[in-house]
Amino acid sequence: MATYNPKSLLPEEFINDAEIRATIAYAEENKRNVELIDSLLQKARPQKTETGVTCSGLTHREASVLLACDIPEKIEEIYRIAEEIKLAFYGNRIVMFAPLYLSNYCVNGCVYCPYHLKNKHIARRKLTQDEVRAEVIALQDMGHKRLAIEAGEHPVENPIEYILECIKTIYSVNHKNGAIRRVNVNIAATTVENYRKLKEAGIGTYILFQETYHKESYLQLHPTGPKHDYDYHTTAMDRAMEGGIDDVGLGVLFGLELYKYEFAGLLMHAEHLEAVHGVGPHTISVPRIKRADDIDPNVFDNSIPDDIFEKIIACIRLAVPYTGMIISTRETEEVRRRALNRGISQISGASRTSVGGYTEEERPHDSEQFDVSDQRTLDEVVRWLMECGHIPSFCTACYREGRTGDRFMSLCKTGQILNCCHPNALMTLTEFLVDYASEETKAIGFKLIEEELKKIPNEKARAIAMQNVEDIKNSNRRDFRF
Ligand code: SF4
Ligand code: SF4
Repeated sequence: MATYNPKSLLPEEFINDAEIRATIAYAEENKRNVELIDSLLQKARPQKTETGVTCSGLTHREASVLLACDIPEKIEEIYRIAEEIKLAFYGNRIVMFAPLYLSNYCVNGCVYCPYHLKNKHIARRKLTQDEVRAEVIALQDMGHKRLAIEAGEHPVENPIEYILECIKTIYSVNHKNGAIRRVNVNIAATTVENYRKLKEAGIGTYILFQETYHKESYLQLHPTGPKHDYDYHTTAMDRAMEGGIDDVGLGVLFGLELYKYEFAGLLMHAEHLEAVHGVGPHTISVPRIKRADDIDPNVFDNSIPDDIFEKIIACIRLAVPYTGMIISTRETEEVRRRALNRGISQISGASRTSVGGYTEEERPHDSEQFDVSDQRTLDEVVRWLMECGHIPSFCTACYREGRTGDRFMSLCKTGQILNCCHPNALMTLTEFLVDYASEETKAIGFKLIEEELKKIPNEKARAIAMQNVEDIKNSNRRDFRF
């Protein structure tokens, strides 16, 4: 029987079933062990250092104990620490992005996705380069600067050359003051050679959801197509990193399997990346299964209620403090509001989850990959974030300055966030307000920016940021960054 080894490249060793089961049992035994829980909370708390703030994180076993804990005051404590970590490393900024669906042709048989091969009535579509351009213009006109491109797996319709061509097109479009400055990519597991090509094309994060870490369930949920190969899928991030991609994004589709299993598996995957490649995941996404064309989420009996969902987010925040966390428009405004205080650092806004959706007058319902719960415009989401005390950020500076992988982590760890991310957030928010916002959003935003600029500790950085904000307001000069 395989034994647990985070340094191994064999999936049965780094996502080790016996270790996950032992972890769940250990967590159950200790879920009311107050002494242990207090020591874990203490370990997870951010600590001040001479150069900034540091956090030690938690192992999958430790975090699983906190996830299992059902003592109300300890859960409140978990939430408080999650918020402290969030503020220490991300401040009150929330990075904005949008998905862009390129093609829904797919040869896989994923039973939870309407784009599966056997769905014969859903309209299949693949964007031409002109259509990509039109979608990008529509996204730029909303104010988006960061995209996550999505495509089904289809060697004939969506080969790597097609994806690369689309990336090139996206980066080439500059409509008015618009620009897409970071393209993250969510495509099927592929070869080291293809990951290298994606890296050369200038992608940001490579995102691939594991869907479920439970191998047996995985095989049943992916009955046909190349994605059926659990081992190939589970080792995709190792190949991506071998191909030179530093920033990878993990995620599971909550609702497919028991959440405690997925939670432990997800953190073990993060530990594996750290152990083998010296850098953990750049982001973790927390999608929950949703209704779509021929998909009824009620047939999956592991769906999780909102309070557990919130606890999962907070416990991930404690376990991997330096990893960004993403929530999409699958969730309602209310769930997103609560999640933002538990550790989420990135959200999508005004998403259309169908191919060609941004150029349609109405949001298409019959060809979406999933039903969008938060249907507000980007202007509304930005205003709402500010009203809730957050700073919407369209910053993409790190990736463009080459601060990826461990270089990004060191920015986080040396406490330079207030001198770097904060002004970048304020400058990119100014761009949004000047170029795309409604009068109401502008009024709230400019007031907020004025106040927040004063909080930049370094005098020189503060003066430069103030000058840049004025320049953006009074000219067409854009794209200032630290
Ligand atoms: S989840 Fe992805 S791979 Fe699976 S059917 Fe949908 S588009 Fe295809
Ligand atoms: S400076 Fe880097 S870490 Fe900070 S918000 Fe921008 S991209 Fe993110």
